[in-house]
Amino acid sequence: MKTSHQNCIILGLLLVVSAASGWGLYYKSYVLNKNLITDLIEEKVIVSDLTNKIANIEGEKNILNEGLEAERKRVGDLAEQVSDAVGTVGILDKLAKTDPQLLQKYSKVYFLNEHYIPSSLKTIDDEYVNDPSKEEQIHGSVWPHLEDMLEEAKEDGVELKVLSSYRSFGRQSELKASYKVIYGSGANTFSADQGYSEHQLGTTLDFTSVDALTTFNGFEKSKGYAWLLENAHKYGFVLSYPPNNQFYQFEPWHWRFVGEDLARDLHKDNMYFYDMDQRKINEYLVKIFD
Ligand SMILES: [Zn+2]
Repeated sequence: MKTSHQNCIILGLLLVVSAASGWGLYYKSYVLNKNLITDLIEEKVIVSDLTNKIANIEGEKNILNEGLEAERKRVGDLAEQVSDAVGTVGILDKLAKTDPQLLQKYSKVYFLNEHYIPSSLKTIDDEYVNDPSKEEQIHGSVWPHLEDMLEEAKEDGVELKVLSSYRSFGRQSELKASYKVIYGSGANTFSADQGYSEHQLGTTLDFTSVDALTTFNGFEKSKGYAWLLENAHKYGFVLSYPPNNQFYQFEPWHWRFVGEDLARDLHKDNMYFYDMDQRKINEYLVKIFD
């Protein structure tokens, strides 16, 4: 019996120990889980904070980018305005330095001051002059265009020669007087009075070509005239007095430099210099020597 009683006590003790140990294990595991969950929650909070921070940084970055873009645009606009202003100033400066007389009409009704002389004159090389014993001069800025044209004609097998170019007011006056002695009032149909001649501008030339039978009158049927009709505009030259013009007789030899832009546009529209409105012509002045 005693043994049985003792066994009961031992069993009871074992149960108590086992229960206590079970509880201990359970509690330990509970605490561990709880810590883990707390940790996880904390981690989650940290991740969420980081996500928010990243979002904020992204937002700030976008704002900065927008600011940067706006700044770039502002600087770009400013640069454009400055370059426009420089361009405008450049054009005004160029225009101020360009002689407005160069694109004025000078025929009978349009008078050029007797004191007018071109801003620069260049002696034309002998090889291009019909009578090399005579000195022929041309406006210094027209010369490169003239030389190009004469060289190009030569390459096409056409030899153009300068008969007459710059003529001063005084020279024109002498010339007209001598024509009047020979031709009387008939001289008015082909020769301008002093002050009304485009030759005084220094931008105008009379040409002949080596195949012309006579220096002036044969020119209309020469290769030189045909070549000029087709090509002179590319070098800025136009025929001033076409057939049936209101000023003088037809002068196939007489060509005036008006700049490549204006010459090209007149050629394209099949117009002559004296047909165009002076205000429209003036728009071409700034680029006359380009
Ligand atoms: Zn002439």
